[in-house]
Order: sequence, then C-alpha cells, then structure tokens
Amino acid sequence: MIQQILSISMVVVGIFLLISALYPVHLIRRFDKENRTGWNILFILIHFFVLGYTTFCYFLFQPKITFGDFIVALILFGGSIFVVIVVRLSQSAIDNIKRIAALERHNALHDDLTGLPNRALLLERINQLILHAKRDLQPLAILVMDLNRFKEINDALGHHYGDFLLQKVAERLQEVIRESDTLARLGGDEFSVALAADAEQAMVVSKKISEALQQPFIIEGHCLNIGISIGIAIYPTHGDDCDTLLQHADVAMYSAKKTETHYALYNVSQDQFTLNRLMLLTDLREAIRKKESLFLHFQPKIDIKKNRIHGVEALLRWNHPELGMIPPDQFIPLTEQSGIIRSLSNWVLRAALAQRAAWREAGLDLSVSVNLSIKDLQDLSVPLMIKDLLKEYQLDPSSLMLEITETSMMLDPDRTYEVISNLHALGVQLSIDDFGTGYSSLAYLKQLPAEELKIDKSFVRNMLIDDNDEVIVQATIDLAKNLGLAVIAEGVESAEILTRLKELNCDLAQGYYICKPLPAKELEEWLKTSPYAATSSP
Ligand code: C2E
Ligand code: MG
Ligand code: MG
Repeated sequence: MIQQILSISMVVVGIFLLISALYPVHLIRRFDKENRTGWNILFILIHFFVLGYTTFCYFLFQPKITFGDFIVALILFGGSIFVVIVVRLSQSAIDNIKRIAALERHNALHDDLTGLPNRALLLERINQLILHAKRDLQPLAILVMDLNRFKEINDALGHHYGDFLLQKVAERLQEVIRESDTLARLGGDEFSVALAADAEQAMVVSKKISEALQQPFIIEGHCLNIGISIGIAIYPTHGDDCDTLLQHADVAMYSAKKTETHYALYNVSQDQFTLNRLMLLTDLREAIRKKESLFLHFQPKIDIKKNRIHGVEALLRWNHPELGMIPPDQFIPLTEQSGIIRSLSNWVLRAALAQRAAWREAGLDLSVSVNLSIKDLQDLSVPLMIKDLLKEYQLDPSSLMLEITETSMMLDPDRTYEVISNLHALGVQLSIDDFGTGYSSLAYLKQLPAEELKIDKSFVRNMLIDDNDEVIVQATIDLAKNLGLAVIAEGVESAEILTRLKELNCDLAQGYYICKPLPAKELEEWLKTSPYAATSSP
C-alpha cells in the first residue's frame, strides 16, 4: 500500500514537474532561434512524457502493483527532475547571456568616464529624432560643444583633474537640459545635445548652457574657470540627415570659438571657409599621425664677422597630398585654434633634435633653432616635453635655441613668463623672433632671459631703399647690444644688405642671399662648398 501511494505520488509530482518545464522551453525556443527545431522536439516530447506519465499513473491505481512498477515510477520521477534541471539551467544560461549582451550594448553605447551616451548612441538617437521630426513636421536642434580651456587645465594639473572636471561638466550640462533631450560625450572635451527645438529655443538653451559653464568649478580646492563654445544646426533648415547636421553644428562651433561669442547658429556663408579649414586640419592630423608629408628645412644663420655658420633654423614644410606645398604661416594658425599645435610642436622638436643628434654623430656641430608657437608659450607642459626630448637624444640643452615671437609673449605675459623661465632653467637658448612687428614693452623685454634678438625681415629687406627701415634696424641693433643680446637680421636678400649689416655692427645674418631653407641632405652638400663651412660656437 505504501509502495503504491509512493509510486502514484512520484508520478504525479513528475507530471507537474514536466508541465512546469513547458513554459521555459517555450520561452527558450523563441529566443534560441538557431536551435529552434531541437527545442520544438523537446517541447513535443514533454507533451508525450506527460501523456505517458498520466497513462502509467492510471495503471498504478490498480489494486495491486509490483515492485517493478515502483522502480519504474522512481525512474520516471528522476527523469522528470532531470528534464526540469536541464531546462532551468538552459534558461539561466540564456538569462546570463542576455544580461551580458545588455551590459555590453550599454558599454558600447556609453562613455566610461561620464556614463553619458557616446557618439554611436547619439547618432542612433538623432536618426530616431529625425524620423519623428519628419513625421510631426517639427524642427530639431543639434548642439556641438567644446570646452574652451580644457586642454590647458588638463596639461597643467594632470589627467586626474581633467577627468574629474569632465565628470563635473557632464553633471552640470545634465542639470541644464531637460531629461527628454539627449546629452552625449563625443570624445575629449566635446559634448553634444540633440533636442526637439527650433533655432530660437536652441539659442535659449545654448545661452543657459554657456552661462552655467561660466561659473567656476571647484575641484579639490582648485577654482577652475572654463567656458564652452557651442555650434547649433537645425533640422530641416541646415540639413536633413545626421551627418550633415553634426558637420554643420561643428562648423558653427568653430565660428563661435573664433569669434568668442559662446554660441553660434550655423550660417552657410562661413561654411566653405570653415569646411576647408576643417578638412585641412583633418589632413594635418593624419600627416602628424602617419609621420608623412611633413618635413623640416634648415636655413643657416651665419656669423657676419667671422664669416662662419653659426647654426641653423628649422622651418616646417607640409607637402599636402592634393594641394601641394602649404606654407607654415597658412596652417600653423589653424593648429593653434584647434589644439593640434601641441602634437605638431612635438613633431617639429623631435625631428629637429633627431637631426641635430644625427649631425653630431657625423661630426657636424650645428646648433638648431626651432620656432615655438603662441600656444606653446602658454603651455606649462612644453618645457617638460623639451626636457624629455633632450634627454632622449642626449643633447646639451644649450645646443637648442627656441624662437619666440614678440606678439606671443604679450598675449598672456605672466603665464608666458613662467613657461619662458622654465625653458631658461632647462638651459636652452631663447631668441626673440620677428622683432619690431609686435608691441613688446621694453620693461618686459629687459626681464626676459633671452640670448638673441632677431630683426624682422620686413625691415631688413628694404633697409637700403627705405631710410626709416634702416633707422629701425640700427636702433634694434643698438637696443640688443644694450640688453646684452646677440642680434640677427633675417631676410638678407643681397650682398649689399649683408655689407651694410656688418657696418652697423650686426652679429648674425640669415636670408636667401646666404642660403635658402634646404632639406638636411642638401644643406650638408651646401656646407661642403660654402664659404661659411666651418662652424663657430654659439
Ligand atoms: P620665421 O620664424 O620668421 O621664419 C623666417 C621665414 O622667412 C621663413 O619662412 C623663411 O623661409 C623666410 N625667409 C628666410 N630668408 C628669407 C629671405 O631672404 N627673404 C624672404 N622673403 N623670406 C626669407 P617660412 O619657412 O615660410 O616660415 C614662416 C613662418 O612660419 C616662420 O617665420 C615661423 O614663424 C613659422 N614657422 C615655420 N616653421 C615653424 C615651426 O616648426 N613651428 C612654428 N610654430 N612656426 C613655424
Ligand atoms: Mg623663426
Ligand atoms: Mg622671423
């Protein structure tokens, strides 16, 4: 009797277990499309098992059952448990896979640092918003934003602060915009917002964002002032697809940055100019990354009295794959506005020092001058970069001269002075380039730890035909002497100018008459036949 009750109970429980496995199997066969046939077979089999178990259970109600019937009931019970375990484990494995897939999708579509949607998710959302806007005949605004002084802060205080600042910026941006708007981080210090708004509303939001970011950020006791430049493009006025809208918002953002207006609506008339610039910058980035099409020319500086080569100035050349040679003063200002200047200066310094080291190996002792940009002089990390490069090439700091322009020093005198002092402390030499074209104060000039003053070529070239220019050249030579600086005239285009400079007691000269800027190999050839061949120590 006990045997019979046990057998019936086991089979009945088995039936319920089998029935309980039906729903998960149904769910799995919907998810696991690749193995759907297998799961369908299992689904049908379970139905047959239920039928078989029910039939067997019916026989178990007979007055007398055998020990064999009990064993079969036990096996059936075990079988049902087995089916349930297999199904449950499969389901939990699938749930795990789903969870991991969801996490991976989240990670692939979000920025690690701020947790905001990234560019990929932004594109997805903009495409959806465009579909809705099209259907409802509503406008849509895309804002592209770039922080104004982020790079400087990041360089000066380190990535730790930079990262923290980006998180704070993200939080502040989120407070300003509505929850229904999409805020994304495009990378670096670039953010973007997609929102259902027309031009007027987008300007209001931009103003709010800009005001919010003008409030200082207090990070670990540092009070950091940044700011933001915002470019706005409106669907459908400025484009009807995601790429065009983002590109146009980018163009507007550059214009806002340039005009320092905080935010700007896309305007077709700026476009061609800005697009060309953007394309040029993209090409330049590529050129720096691939280390191709950029190279240096070297122009000798000669000692007028000793008739000897004194050193060379490294001048950057860019041979654009389609546009051909682009002069440095056409693309360097672009890099200064976009922050590429740092990698460009690093490239130039590295190439110049590598060449200096190669010449030293070949027994040629040529000191090299490198031009620094305005931005380099405001970048506190530049002296450290130069220190590392000098160490890497095992060069004596005094064999490197840095040319800095007057204008660049006057832009932010205090900060520039700090960078210049750090450079001086390294032991590198400094030359004040293009002297006479800027407005540097004599008081400032006097404090500068410079070694050389370079008279701008605009005065030198015409000094024999224009009395005013000759007076300026002479006054500059006297000034340099009084300040204890060596004086060099650039733009020497004739023997007569060189002779006159000698009479005026000018120390050094540089110009097409002496030698045009040349690639390193050609310069070595020039040196073999040049009257200025032997070097004179700086
Ligand atoms: P700069 O430093 O004043 O360089 C002198 C410029 O005058 C060079 O032009 C040189 O080729 C040119 N030059 C030399 N001798 C003569 C001459 O006798 N007559 C005339 N008319 N010109 C002469 P380049 O190479 O086109 O460079 C222009 C400017 O671009 C440079 O002026 C410098 O400010 C900037 N630059 C060049 N290379 C670099 C660089 O690697 N980094 C940075 N930041 N700026 C650079
Ligand atoms: Mg120069
Ligand atoms: Mg110059």
